[in-house]
Amino acid sequence: MVRAQLSMVMVLDKCIGCHTCSLTCKNVWTNREGQEYAWWNNVETRPGVGYPKTWENQEKYGGGWVLRNGKLRLRLETGRFKTPGREDYYEPFTYNYENLFSEELSDQQPHADPISMYSGEKIDVQWGPNFDDDLAGGDLTIPADPNWSGIDKAIYKEFKNVFMFYLPRICNHCLNPSCLAACPRKSVYKRPEDGIVLIDQTRCRGYRQCVQACPYKKVYYNWKTGKSEKCIFCFPRIETGQPPVCALTCVGKIRYVGVVLYDEERVLEAAKAPEDQLVALQRDIILDPFDPQVVKAARESGVPDNFIEAARKSPIYYMFKKWEIALPLHPEFRTLPMVFYVPPLNPVVTVLDRNGKYSADYDSILPTIDKLRIPIRYLANMFAAGNEEEVRKALKRLLAIREFFRQIEVEGKSRSEAAWVLEENGLTVEDADMMFRWLALSRDRYVIPTAKKELRIRLPSKGR
Ligand code: SF4
Ligand code: SF4
Repeated sequence: MVRAQLSMVMVLDKCIGCHTCSLTCKNVWTNREGQEYAWWNNVETRPGVGYPKTWENQEKYGGGWVLRNGKLRLRLETGRFKTPGREDYYEPFTYNYENLFSEELSDQQPHADPISMYSGEKIDVQWGPNFDDDLAGGDLTIPADPNWSGIDKAIYKEFKNVFMFYLPRICNHCLNPSCLAACPRKSVYKRPEDGIVLIDQTRCRGYRQCVQACPYKKVYYNWKTGKSEKCIFCFPRIETGQPPVCALTCVGKIRYVGVVLYDEERVLEAAKAPEDQLVALQRDIILDPFDPQVVKAARESGVPDNFIEAARKSPIYYMFKKWEIALPLHPEFRTLPMVFYVPPLNPVVTVLDRNGKYSADYDSILPTIDKLRIPIRYLANMFAAGNEEEVRKALKRLLAIREFFRQIEVEGKSRSEAAWVLEENGLTVEDADMMFRWLALSRDRYVIPTAKKELRIRLPSKGR
């Protein structure tokens, strides 16, 4: 059975941490009572603890799947874990602006105290959704980042001089969603036509199993309605061919939205892969939309032609499957997340020789990958279940594109003379032109087919 999945790629080198995506999402979807603390889209600074605090630590929160004796089990069924509470999110607050006008005359400036949005009482604010933004409070938060695993502790003590990047996050609309599997009411479902994961608000009874089971902590309990809610990939916009609000308003133009085709029968096989092969197997079940056999099977499975056409132009297909420059976030959770990240090079490679001059020597550029400021190991822990080769390959290809264009623009070489840099890294000149158009010029970032409501598509098979 061939299915279509809507998906997103975020290019992390381009994220400026402005939080516009979070604010526009909030204004559209969670600007109401009961969802004050809910950030369906949030942006974290790395290294750091994220939101809710240390969400990546599944020993604490019990999200995702574990592989035991060849079988996948929800981690939350294997022990007792913490459900994130107010201390892990924050107590939403505003300010007593009224006080600015009503305070009695005194020598001091009037001031607006922080007040709880729940109780209206004055509170002592200890934490917020971005209190560790730009490494603020890093002495306390950096050591709690689980992505340091296997890295010399001396590095993170020097973190302020080492590196920093932003990590925007939404629900990953996973192929093997643990939120869905954990729901005792079967309220969580994955739309068969485009893979968007939703919660049926008429069925949900607020048991919060999904909150616990999602390893990305992207389901939020609404204390007002008593039901759980999550990112809906802006499906009312998607159905009319428009990008999600977070992508539309992204200042850095880092977000790419498109469709991929995948082999539904192989989802469990991919989710059970050995850790070092998780990314490769997830890539393997994404199908080639140019292959006539795939097109035939897609049509037989009820995938409309406009989805197949969109899959051929999909930036996700090229970046994740073909060029292998985009990677999933924490594949070791085994949910097969379908939001991908192009890892950051940080900083732009400028190799200085001993005399402090820029070195144009190609050989001195590519080997520097292991000397970049962000440890490869840190990125591998985050985007490849520890498999450093996946990260190395992606970064080398990104560097190869830069070097190709540098040789043309700076050294005046012809395209064919410079093409060897690409060939060495498994790319073609055509790939380079497409990458340049997408990554540098940010053109055609959204390839979204409109919904075909009239089509009947079989519901997903049971068991996941
Ligand atoms: S990211 Fe979490 S909420 Fe979203 S589909 Fe995956 S498991 Fe479910
Ligand atoms: S709007 Fe774009 S650039 Fe700004 S924080 Fe969000 S993802 Fe990053």
